[in-house]
Amino acid sequence: MDKNQRKFGIDTLCVHSGGLKDQTWGGIASPIINSTAYRYREIKNRGYPRYFEAPNQIAVVEKMCKLEHTEDGILVSSGMAAISSTILGLVKTGQHIIIQEEAYGGTTELFTNICGPLGIKYSFVKASVEAIMTKITDQTAMIFLECPTNPTLSIIDIVKLIKSIKGKNIITAIDNTFATPINQNPALLGIDIVTHSGTKFLSGHSDLCCGIVLGAKKYINQIRITARSLGGSLNANDSYLLERSLKTLNLRVSKQTDNAQKLAEFLYEHSEVTSIKYPGLETDKYHKLAKNQMHGFGSMISFELSEECDLEKFMEALDLIIPASSLGGLETTISQVWYSSHQFMPVDQRIKLGINERLLRISTGIEYIDDLIHDLNMAIQKSLSG
Ligand SMILES: *Cc1c(COP(=O)(O)O)cnc(C)c1O
Repeated sequence: MDKNQRKFGIDTLCVHSGGLKDQTWGGIASPIINSTAYRYREIKNRGYPRYFEAPNQIAVVEKMCKLEHTEDGILVSSGMAAISSTILGLVKTGQHIIIQEEAYGGTTELFTNICGPLGIKYSFVKASVEAIMTKITDQTAMIFLECPTNPTLSIIDIVKLIKSIKGKNIITAIDNTFATPINQNPALLGIDIVTHSGTKFLSGHSDLCCGIVLGAKKYINQIRITARSLGGSLNANDSYLLERSLKTLNLRVSKQTDNAQKLAEFLYEHSEVTSIKYPGLETDKYHKLAKNQMHGFGSMISFELSEECDLEKFMEALDLIIPASSLGGLETTISQVWYSSHQFMPVDQRIKLGINERLLRISTGIEYIDDLIHDLNMAIQKSLSG
């Protein structure tokens, strides 16, 4: 987009930023350019996908840079490609990383399976500034955050953390998958690197696996060198699909967030709901903090039903809401995380994090809210009978 004088709203940026011009036909959608070879004598950009120079990749990066207020980025083939490239690109053997113990399972595995054997030191800590500060050593090169966390929806005070480590030479990175740029812009709070699993809300249709790293050029250039050796680039067709999805990001996520607020309020009032976590509820532990650092409270809810409810019957009875392990799609999904996303986490670790067999996590979609409430209520009633 060439209209840089005006500060456009996020809705406008979703639609109009980035994108490729169709010079030949004048079509208003970006052309999909599948070439892997380019005329180097005429064109400066080598365009090679694994070097992250393919036109359709660049189109997405430009859009995401606008949405996340960052200078540069690289589009990769999964959220884990984004996280692993970031960490291996910026942290060397002998250095130390601090990471939240509630981080996404794949991130935790990256540390135990790859960083550890490579001699990168790491400490897992609680999602609190105080806990992080006690772990900082002279070798600490990075703090890797995830906020809000999955599935416990803990929130860390980002501004306070940035202030606390001022003057120390520590890079801060955050997995912003749950919040999306619609609900949280970590770069505006002082975070250096923002990663996303594009598989979730960014693509939003439960049909695409991709990821992105965003930040200042000096960091992205360094990460790009590692990422091109790791080889996790995204093809032109999927890059195009992501660009297309991002046009409706604000529309989708705003509606999903709205639905989550209403669904959380319904669950909070329900007599069979014994606990609920959603930062949009005024009674939530993190409500004030979330209000300060987020634009919206997101579309993830965790809750528990009373022992009177048979969870098998409950899941079986759901008509509209789909029991599924991933999240961020147009359709509302529910997951008993003990048996899905967190099944490989050691049991004692799960208990320590407050994840029990009965914990349910909802990712709200864009359906009509009354239909979602009706579905949940009906399934809860059926889970009680007999
Ligand atoms: C799914 C997810 C990831 C990993 O993304 P993939 O695209 O599956 O590699 C990382 N972080 C969070 C918070 C996630 O939900």
